[in-house]
Amino acid sequence: MSKRRNGGIISNRFKLISELSDFYSDSQDRFLKIELFFKEIAKRFDYSSIQTPVIENFALYEKLYAESPFFDKDRFVIFKTKGRKKTVLCLRNELSISMIRAYCENGLYKKLKPFRLFSFGDEYEIEPDSGHYFRKNKAVFQVFGRKDPVIEVQLIQFSEFVLNSLNFKGRYKLKINNIGCRKCRRPYVKALNNFLKTRSTQLCRDCKKFLKKSPFLVFNCKNVKCAKIYRRAPELLNSLCEECETDFRRLLKYLDGLGVDYELDSKFFDNFWISNKIVFKFVASDNKGKEKVLISANRRDEVIKKISSENTSINNLNFEIDNILADSVLEEGEDFRSEIKGRDNNYSNDNILFIIGLGDKGKQECMKLYFDLIRDDNRVIEFFGKDSMVSQLKRAEKSKARFALIIGQKEAIDDMVIIRDLQYGSQETVLRKDLFKRINKLL
Ligand SMILES: [Zn+2]
Ligand SMILES: [Zn+2]
Repeated sequence: MSKRRNGGIISNRFKLISELSDFYSDSQDRFLKIELFFKEIAKRFDYSSIQTPVIENFALYEKLYAESPFFDKDRFVIFKTKGRKKTVLCLRNELSISMIRAYCENGLYKKLKPFRLFSFGDEYEIEPDSGHYFRKNKAVFQVFGRKDPVIEVQLIQFSEFVLNSLNFKGRYKLKINNIGCRKCRRPYVKALNNFLKTRSTQLCRDCKKFLKKSPFLVFNCKNVKCAKIYRRAPELLNSLCEECETDFRRLLKYLDGLGVDYELDSKFFDNFWISNKIVFKFVASDNKGKEKVLISANRRDEVIKKISSENTSINNLNFEIDNILADSVLEEGEDFRSEIKGRDNNYSNDNILFIIGLGDKGKQECMKLYFDLIRDDNRVIEFFGKDSMVSQLKRAEKSKARFALIIGQKEAIDDMVIIRDLQYGSQETVLRKDLFKRINKLL
């Protein structure tokens, strides 16, 4: 008979793996609340929701992780099925990858773009040396089919909106980098390798190991001596190609215009092997000053074409639920909705608004308005990624919205908004400060 640990009533061989835990009572209450909160947020921001099984074909990861310097089969919870059909399966290791697979498999690529997808779920991994299991919980928001920094700006504002709703206001920092594309990365890697070669004798043992895999990995080294050397390393931000540079400049201009606080971190290359261009993360410090990631985001322009005949870009936003729960200052009985009025509306098509921004200034004002409207409990649809009035209006007419709110360059300067009745084609211009009153009357 097996030994029983801690005098428990159940034999060890029937117990759950010790690093994993069951949720019950208080821990379950908080967990269910945050899951519900994210589901509501997804609905409010027009994301379709998907739930994927926790098991995937291991071949999916083998294909997508092929270029990763971290790819290690032993980190996956892999198992072979017995019986006639022998298949190599694994527990889900990255929720965002299951979503991408599901996007291709369920014909979601046929939907109008940008298409927004949300999922809440767990991920599993084994630490090969210790044999410990890890379970992480994530809320992932993806935007498919739009290569425009406007999407990143929107996701940054969305992240702030969510963090503020979770009572993190004033306790997080936003870090941004541009990790370039194939075009600008190649010459940069060459320059970085040259720099590192001339200093290789001064680097720590870990860095020498990293260097064999990818020069970007050295920036993760916590050694003070190494960090000092890397301060003088060439920076990719100074040698971006024209497209990456223009996109990045637009992003920062929007963020400055919207008054978003951020920090440029040129040494932050997380997920560089599967991502490109703009990356950002929201971090908070714990009471020992250690940095904890609350949200990480990246763009993946070349992932879908590796596993399908589609070629669509993806913006990927990951909420680290365990870090958020550990740090949230949620009072007992309180729920996570302070930023939203929460009238629990069942939206009818008559009260959906579509907002249209024209030119950088108009789009910027629209982004502000977008969040104000959602805070005021309106259902809002937008199409900021497209530039022309015609394409945005076409999308508005196809949508379920009854009214379109339009801000162009002129309206942005004059603090005005055009309200257009999508059913009858009539329109009126109102002062921005009178907009909510007018909308409430119209809806
Ligand atoms: Zn580039
Ligand atoms: Zn080092």
